[in-house]
Amino acid sequence: MLVSAKEMLTKAKAGKYAVGQFNINNLEWTKSILLTAEELKSPVILGVSEGAGKYMTGYKTVSAMVSAMVEELGITVPVALHLDHGSYEGAKACIEAGFSSIMFDGSHYPIDENIAKTKELVAICEEKGISLEAEVGSIGGEEDGVVGKGECADPDECKMVADLGVTMLAAGIGNIHGKYPENWEGLSFETLDAIQAKTGDMPLVLHGGTGIPEDMIKKAISLGVAKINVNTECQLAFQEATRKYIEDGKDLEGKGFDPRKLLAPGAEAIKATVKEKMELFGSVGKA
Ligand SMILES: [Zn+2]
Repeated sequence: MLVSAKEMLTKAKAGKYAVGQFNINNLEWTKSILLTAEELKSPVILGVSEGAGKYMTGYKTVSAMVSAMVEELGITVPVALHLDHGSYEGAKACIEAGFSSIMFDGSHYPIDENIAKTKELVAICEEKGISLEAEVGSIGGEEDGVVGKGECADPDECKMVADLGVTMLAAGIGNIHGKYPENWEGLSFETLDAIQAKTGDMPLVLHGGTGIPEDMIKKAISLGVAKINVNTECQLAFQEATRKYIEDGKDLEGKGFDPRKLLAPGAEAIKATVKEKMELFGSVGKA
């Protein structure tokens, strides 16, 4: 059964660790992440971008696949199925399709409109027991084609949105999506500290977890980050392992062309990446 992310994140914030959101793209991704979470007894959030949802033929397909897989694999740790950077329409479609958690990214709207739309979704999610993530201050890098630069959110705006009754809050603190550029200035802990001071117990979300140095991740967790999104890193691990398999000519040996063999090294690489992150975030053994 899929669960809201509320309880796992409340516990994480109180226990000073973070739960990883790992984005999925297909069956192999989902299976690798679920098996690793179960093995490590860690709660987990499966992220689905609108692009990935389309790729998998729609939110209903994703929801059905994930729910069935949780059951068939005998997964006992809490699993939330979460829409990543959802539009207003996408959020409604995912609620309808059976997702247990939603991110509404209204960061590109003026703050008043972001608030109005977030409020409406808070009411719907509350009624259905679904967790809701809001975003204040756009997070740099590329979000499904939308490019921004590492902004810092206004702590007062964060407080305004947190007070609407959202479950968790993503705020820009200089983080960006994708690979970090050479000249990146690092996370703004001053901003994070100010946001936590204003928002209290609200679990904060760190997007763009790929390539942030470990000490910065740990410091961010100590300052109230309870959910960290990882996407690109699993993609890079999958790509590297798959490239090696082909370059080593393994696909040409025996039945090496069998997709179950060809995709296996990539799937194992995702598992290793997820394990490394869960250990770093401190969520191992917390389920
Ligand atoms: Zn993001």
